[in-house]
Amino acid sequence: MTDKNATPKIIYLDNSATTQVHPLVKDAIIPYLENLYGNPSSLHTKGQEAKRAIETARKQVATLIGATPNEITFTGSGTESNNLALKGIVSKNKNRGNHIITTKIEHKSILNSAKWLETEGFKVTYLNVDKNGTVDIEQLKKEIRPETILVSVMFANNEVGTIQPIKEIGEFLKDKDIYFHTDAVQAVGKIPINTEELNIDILTISSHKIHGPKGVGALYIRNGTKINPIIHGGGQEKELRSGTENVPGIVGLGKAAEIAKDTLESNIKHLNMLSKKLEKGIFKSIPELILNGHPENRIPGNVNISFKYVEGESVMLMLDCEGICVSTGSACTSKSLKPSYVLNAMGKEIVFMHGSIRFSIGTFNTEEEIDTVIKTLPTIIKNLRALSPIYNKN
Ligand code: PLP
Repeated sequence: MTDKNATPKIIYLDNSATTQVHPLVKDAIIPYLENLYGNPSSLHTKGQEAKRAIETARKQVATLIGATPNEITFTGSGTESNNLALKGIVSKNKNRGNHIITTKIEHKSILNSAKWLETEGFKVTYLNVDKNGTVDIEQLKKEIRPETILVSVMFANNEVGTIQPIKEIGEFLKDKDIYFHTDAVQAVGKIPINTEELNIDILTISSHKIHGPKGVGALYIRNGTKINPIIHGGGQEKELRSGTENVPGIVGLGKAAEIAKDTLESNIKHLNMLSKKLEKGIFKSIPELILNGHPENRIPGNVNISFKYVEGESVMLMLDCEGICVSTGSACTSKSLKPSYVLNAMGKEIVFMHGSIRFSIGTFNTEEEIDTVIKTLPTIIKNLRALSPIYNKN
């Protein structure tokens, strides 16, 4: 007899959107939802045990990126860290200049912060990327002005996975009086990162992308960096981020960072093996498609493919009916089908921009799951193409 209440097996390939909480992270958090409930600002026993837990987490996060613990500030998300990086740096350093450089393919938390800063009188240059999604470093060099105070270039793109030339940018900015921020939300835990070796001044981390809980992030801020808070209050986090600390969340991020550090090498191997298998399997069985993003220089686990003559949203929904979770770059609104601004900046043809699917593989995916996707996808694409008025059926 079949169990009617059994949950259908889901194949989760949307790990760039979020990841499941690691069981060891869950175990680490639970005591802080039960007995260890103190406020870290309190000087009594309960407060101090919570404070110690935060300081342990700070060490764990610092170790993951080669920083020292006092360079880590906990925030409420990757989005908040990016807001703090941009707004905090420019407001503190505006006496030196009013120019910021970023790229056209940043996450919205950077792009919309930059847009808001423009309304406040700051000048922003948005760098181009090439067809693989790599930032133009020569353009960056040309765009530097005496008034430039901050360069913000993401470590790896969330949609197409392309890794940016962070080392070269850090090297170039090293001797200049310009802060270098990188949004490393998609890179942390998938690429070895050492802020010292890469000459990074400020770096964004989000917990839920590395098997930690949602609603907690961190910002690495190199010692000596001049930065203002954007949230004012009781002065927690060395006055940089007021508000009673999210102790369970911070403990979870710390544990997730520790696991990410300990398993980095094996995780990279696992993700690369599964991505290659998926990419090869899809290209072997489906015609008229392209891989988006840099063919080699990409974060392990990201496979972004555009299928000609289909809408990404239809593919995503059909896969969902089969229990396979992925995401698409195109967002359907009632009035228009908006293609991804990232693919647009990469100069993709319209026919490819609409049919993009991002498979983002995670630690907990298996070869068997990838085999199922390779078996399921060709029929979905074939059926959708059969309905397409622009697909030449002959
Ligand atoms: N930056 C990048 C590159 C991201 O992919 C994301 C989330 O998708 C964020 C920032 C925002 O992180 P959070 O969801 O923690 O606000």
